[in-house]
Amino acid sequence: NAFEALGISKEIQRAIVDLGFEEPTPIQQMAIPLIHQGFDVIGQAQTGTGKTAAFGIPTLEKIDPLDKHVQALILSPTRELTIQIAEELSKLARYRRGIAILPIYGGQPIERQFDALRRGVQVVIGTPGRVMDHMRRGTLVFDHVKTVVLDEADEMLDMGFRDDIELILKTTPSDRQTTLFSATMSQPILELTKRFQKSPKMVKV
Ligand code: AMP
Repeated sequence: NAFEALGISKEIQRAIVDLGFEEPTPIQQMAIPLIHQGFDVIGQAQTGTGKTAAFGIPTLEKIDPLDKHVQALILSPTRELTIQIAEELSKLARYRRGIAILPIYGGQPIERQFDALRRGVQVVIGTPGRVMDHMRRGTLVFDHVKTVVLDEADEMLDMGFRDDIELILKTTPSDRQTTLFSATMSQPILELTKRFQKSPKMVKV
């Protein structure tokens, strides 16, 4: 099928069948091969285009289940979106063993997040404020991160998360892969990509 042609593993293809996806959406067609090949990507796409799976599938494929450090960090503007991304990634990862996914957002008891983090989490999805809070406490460490995704980057900048995003990105390894999704492109977004991405490929739907 068309997902197989995108180089997606058998385990994730099985999860895609369970989810009822029959064909990759245009953003998935374009972004998945580029992210697989290791490129930094700028995706201009609205909610509803399938962008979560577009960055989620290649992100999950890159996780080493034996390494219990945080390997992927996805920043999202709101608690609702954070939960939604975590749910979709958990469904996609259903047949891959040993991958722990944790949503992190303000308003949730921080102690519960400490317990989950202590047990080892490879994929963190979080709002920038709460992620910063954990970084300051030393309960989130990003020195094994291979992939960073900035989802709804325009929303995050509008909400005033620019400084937090920059501080967080600076604690991740410079050889990471960085992917940015945004419904709109603006000067502040382009500046962010210039500072934190390497020769990004742009895809637009
Ligand atoms: P998103 O743009 O990531 O918020 O996705 C919007 C909705 O489309 C979500 O409910 C996804 O589960 C669903 N979706 C994502 N990819 C596909 C696909 N290839 N086929 C059908 N539905 C999809």
